[in-house]
Amino acid sequence: MTSWQQSLKNSITTPQQLAQHFPVDIDALSRVVERYPMRITPHYLGLIREAGDPIWRQCVPDAAELADDNLLVDPLNEENLSPVDSLVHRYPDRALFLVAGTCASYCRFCTRKRKVGCSTMSLSPDALSQGIDYIARTPQINDVLLSGGDPLMLSDEVLGDLLGRLRQVPHVQVIRIGSRMPVTLPERITPELCAMLRRYHPLYLNTHFNHPREITAEAQQACARLADAGIQLGNQTVLLKGVNDDPAIMSELLRGLLGMRVRPYYLHQMDLTCGTGHFRTRVEQGIEILRALRGQVSGMAIPQYVIDLPGGKGKVPILPDYVERLGDAIAIRTPDGDSVIFPNGGGENLRRG
Ligand SMILES: *Cc1c(COP(=O)(O)O)cnc(C)c1O
Ligand code: SF4
Repeated sequence: MTSWQQSLKNSITTPQQLAQHFPVDIDALSRVVERYPMRITPHYLGLIREAGDPIWRQCVPDAAELADDNLLVDPLNEENLSPVDSLVHRYPDRALFLVAGTCASYCRFCTRKRKVGCSTMSLSPDALSQGIDYIARTPQINDVLLSGGDPLMLSDEVLGDLLGRLRQVPHVQVIRIGSRMPVTLPERITPELCAMLRRYHPLYLNTHFNHPREITAEAQQACARLADAGIQLGNQTVLLKGVNDDPAIMSELLRGLLGMRVRPYYLHQMDLTCGTGHFRTRVEQGIEILRALRGQVSGMAIPQYVIDLPGGKGKVPILPDYVERLGDAIAIRTPDGDSVIFPNGGGENLRRG
């Protein structure tokens, strides 16, 4: 069996390599790759059935990325919320710690595509130490999210050392890891990695499945290993045009996740990131998908639909508007589109109704 390091080396990073598998326009692709790097792991490449399909759209560069789409380079104002280079501190009790600058596969819709995989995000051991020092001297922080890039790009040794240093900070209670590896490089989830991680509980891992075809036997095994190590698994999906902007696809994805012990956490409306406009859907569409899910799939499988507001204003949940009219009795729309009158407040309304 090939090691995960070897699989990474075997990944596709140039248009010429991709052209050996699919007919592509090498010149057009090269122009995009100069600005936003490409990497596709052998596992993820194997999930593509044809050009333009939902897996292809997520990993193969598109000329539309270079369109002048009036969107923002840093939509979440992360650069201004960074007290030290490697860390974003937006909510008092939580810190987003950017511990790796690269990923196994580069998602074309990535919010941090301005720097992920680019030299501007190469992280020195010094930058990591600055992040840990900041967390250690900021007692309000009790929840640290390791992100990047993908934290599982670090070797077991480096990651273990980092987790050990974080666990020495008494006010750090919860550590969360955000990783797309179960989807793109499932062989990264080795028994050795899981044995190391389980020493640092309470540990949560949020992964990133966007389409039911990403739920492969290999991904299932990776999630089972993590879950068996006692790691609570969540999932953050991005709502993407031409990938999962459809209630049937979305419910198949969410059911599949629950079936492998991964609890859907967030459904993200696309951020206003420069170079990702071709993935954006209307917010009404997200609301309609959510409405369709309610009553059709297990409540355990339904994520919160959130918009991360521009300028670093934070994540806000978006819900279908079920309440139509308030008063002594309120009118509530059912998921099927009917209206039901529900008595409001205490007992006297009930008796009158
Ligand atoms: C999303 C996010 C978090 C974590 O938010 P939760 O809603 O607790 O998952 C923390 N910091 C930043 C900067 C974030 O973008
Ligand atoms: S794995 Fe995450 S950080 Fe890496 S490219 Fe994809 S969305 Fe961006």
